[in-house]
Amino acid sequence: MEITVTKSTTVGQKPRPQDAELGFGKYTTDHMFLMNYTDGKGWHDGRIEPYGFLRLDPAAMVFHYSQEVFEGLKAYYLEDGGIGLFRPEKNIERMNSSARRMVMPELDPDLFLRALKRLIILDRQWVPQSEGTSLYIRPTMIASEAALGVRPAKEYLFFIILGPVGAYYPAGFSPTKIYVSDKYVRAAQGGVGETKTSGNYGATLYVQREASQKGYNQVLWLDAIERKYVEEVGTSNIFFLINDELVTPPLGGTILPGITRDSVLQLASRWGMNAVERPISIEEVIEGCKSGSLKEMFATGTAAVISPVGLICYKGEDFNIAEGQIGELSKKFYDEITGIQYGRREDPFGWRLRIA
Ligand SMILES: *Cc1c(COP(=O)(O)O)cnc(C)c1O
Repeated sequence: MEITVTKSTTVGQKPRPQDAELGFGKYTTDHMFLMNYTDGKGWHDGRIEPYGFLRLDPAAMVFHYSQEVFEGLKAYYLEDGGIGLFRPEKNIERMNSSARRMVMPELDPDLFLRALKRLIILDRQWVPQSEGTSLYIRPTMIASEAALGVRPAKEYLFFIILGPVGAYYPAGFSPTKIYVSDKYVRAAQGGVGETKTSGNYGATLYVQREASQKGYNQVLWLDAIERKYVEEVGTSNIFFLINDELVTPPLGGTILPGITRDSVLQLASRWGMNAVERPISIEEVIEGCKSGSLKEMFATGTAAVISPVGLICYKGEDFNIAEGQIGELSKKFYDEITGIQYGRREDPFGWRLRIA
C-alpha cells in the first residue's frame, strides 16, 4: 500500500515548551497517520495528514462497546544525532494479539513499521534532545462503524499520534510509594487483562484516585480470586529481589506482557542472575520487608523504564523497602536499558532499531 502524505501548512506554529517543561502526554506533533478498514475490502487509504480532530458518528461502536486497542512506545534521540526505536516489532506483535482478542482486524507488521518510520521522520524536529526525553508514540485502533448493538464492527480506524515527553525523573531517579488494593481488582482469569484495551484503564481510576488521596503514587494489584498473589503495579509490571533471587509473577492471562519486563528478564539471565517467573504472595512480600530479605522492588514499563518502590502500604500499614533508597540492581537495569535505547551502550540483543 502507498502511504499518501499531506503536509501541514502550519509547521512550527504549535506550542512547544522547553524540554524541562514537557511532562507526559501533553503535547502532540504536526502530523498523524490514519488508515481505514472495511469488511470485505481490508485496510485501505493509509495516509499522513496534518494533526487534527477526527470526525466520528456518535453511534461509532468504540464509544458504546469499547472495541479499542492501543500501544505505547518511544523514539529516542541517539548519541550520534540519529533516531532509534526500541523493539518496535514487539509492540506491533502485541497490538495484533490485542486486536485478535477484541475481534478486530490485524495490521500488516511491515506496513505498520513503514507508517511509523515515515511519520516520525516527517516530524523529526519534534524528537526532544535533552537527557531522558523522548518522542512518545501512541498507535490506536477503534471500531468506527456507526451501529448500536453488541457485535464486532465492520469498520475500523487505525491511527498513530506522536508527542514529545519529558524525562520521567527530572529531579533524578526516585522511589515511589505503592498502595495495595485488596478490594478492587484489575483483571480476572478469562478476561482481557493481557490486552492493551481502553476499558482496562478506565476501570482502575477509582482506586487510583483513592491511593493518590492517601498520598501513594501507584496501586499494586492482587489476583482477582484470592486477593493473595501480586500481579502488577499501576500500568507496569513488577519485580522483587529476594536475597539473590529476582522474581516476577508469571504471565497467565491477567498480566500485561510488558516489553520492558521481557528485556529485564533477558538481561538478568545474560548477567547470570537467578531470575524466575513464579507466583509471589503479598504475605511473602510483607514478610520480606520485615525480615530484610526483600532487597529491592521495582516496576517496569515504557514510560519510566524502571521505577523503584520505596514504600508499600498493605491493610493500612506502611512498610519500607531498601530503606526507601534506590537499589543497586534497579539502577543497573535502568542504566543498561536506557543506555541501549539512547545508543550509549552496546546492543547485544539487537533491540535498537535505527530509523534515521
Ligand atoms: C503497557 C503496560 C505495561 C508495560 O508494558 P511495556 O511494554 O513494558 O511498556 C504493564 N502493565 C500494563 C497494565 C500496561 O498497560
